[in-house]
Amino acid sequence: MSYNLFNTLSRSLQEFVPIDPAGKKVGMYCCGPTVYDFAHIGNWRTFVFGDLVRRYLEFRGYDLHYVMNITDIDDKIIRRVRDSKRSLRDFTGQYEAAFFEDLKRLNLRPPHLTPRATEHIPEIIGVIEKLMTRGLAYKAADGSVYFSIEKYRAAGREYGQLVKLNFEEMRPGERVRSDEYEKEAVADFALWKARVPDDGDIFWPSPWGEGRPGWHIECSAMSMKLLGTSFDLHLGGEDLMFPHHEDEIAQSEGAGLQPAGQRFVKYWLHGAHLLVEGKKMAKKLGNFFTVRDLLAKGFTGREIRFLLLQAHYRETYNFTLQGLQSARASLMRIDECLTKLREVAGAAKAPTVDNDVLGRFTAVLDDDLNISGAWGVIFDWVRDTNRKLAEHAMDAASAAAALGTWDKFDSVLGVGAPAEFEVPAEINALLEARQAARKAKDFKRADAVRDELKSKGWIIEDTPKGPKVKRL
Ligand SMILES: [Zn+2]
Repeated sequence: MSYNLFNTLSRSLQEFVPIDPAGKKVGMYCCGPTVYDFAHIGNWRTFVFGDLVRRYLEFRGYDLHYVMNITDIDDKIIRRVRDSKRSLRDFTGQYEAAFFEDLKRLNLRPPHLTPRATEHIPEIIGVIEKLMTRGLAYKAADGSVYFSIEKYRAAGREYGQLVKLNFEEMRPGERVRSDEYEKEAVADFALWKARVPDDGDIFWPSPWGEGRPGWHIECSAMSMKLLGTSFDLHLGGEDLMFPHHEDEIAQSEGAGLQPAGQRFVKYWLHGAHLLVEGKKMAKKLGNFFTVRDLLAKGFTGREIRFLLLQAHYRETYNFTLQGLQSARASLMRIDECLTKLREVAGAAKAPTVDNDVLGRFTAVLDDDLNISGAWGVIFDWVRDTNRKLAEHAMDAASAAAALGTWDKFDSVLGVGAPAEFEVPAEINALLEARQAARKAKDFKRADAVRDELKSKGWIIEDTPKGPKVKRL
């Protein structure tokens, strides 16, 4: 079976064939966080999508090398650093640390490399120098270096490969210093921004004077350094298609570093937007959530991940708090099934897995990561397994084989089996305190203890063998 992905470059489904002649090694880059604040749930949709692409490639046996950059210098960061009166490293460091904490909470496999832009200034300057030598970049009167779209096009290159651009309406000769601009404002963009008083002490020396890199050139320089000048997959949110990714192509291919006949990137993949409660996220609408905000509401990283993995990556998805409640219920169905399987399997280890169901799982994901199809296969499997368990039609070996099958599913989805938590003494003491309160008919106290347990991430379950606590 071939694995097909929607390539924004060709606007079509294409079979995934690695550049590596042996068909084994795969290089992948995803634009990472700009560390000026906590990443919001929309950013996390893109990163979880990247993790799904990565896990599925690994599931399919590719030897993947995954790079995600940390943008620790850009216009927004400089503004915030100035307001915070802290050093650049100190300011960005806190959000970078928060990013990795959230990444762990959402159970993303950490990318193999997460390079910082500020640690690749020489490589960035190197690419700009190449563009200068080739006549595709120029120093303007403001001291900044810009990429010339006119020269690039005159050299027979196409600007506007990921998005359609109307050059008739372009105003030639205009320049844009800002990293973000609209399609209608297509213009020469900044590669190196000359130092201005507002930059404070944030600048580096360069052949064109003191300054700092533009945002787009960061990704070109770091991806080509760490993955080679021509690599397989480049991912990002659809909002990055223009200008960011378009500019990455122009700079990287304009520098002419690729082997003959090869592109900077073979497959461009873009994840769709996330709406929250039916609307575009905005702080003033009260629908702007970071992972931390959702954890504070009592949801778990696992539930957030599960919900972010519900829709196909190219579909706009409406993320809701109600959806998180449903995610909790769905995960409980999976957990109950796995718990029963563990009871039946006992110490048995199965050398086999259910290749039939895994074949169905692979077939749907091969179709441009059809995630709803994958969940369909999994929940059918849960239902069948529950039926067999109810009919006592499973012995220890077949239960162990079913657990092995689940592990294969979960290597792609990462929503996790219920972990066997050790219950801390403090939690057990609270459970006993609740029992004592109930015995004394002090229900107010019993409820208060239950709430305290919940705030610590534990819930009480009444079982035939008496109450037990389990992780939220
Ligand atoms: Zn980027």
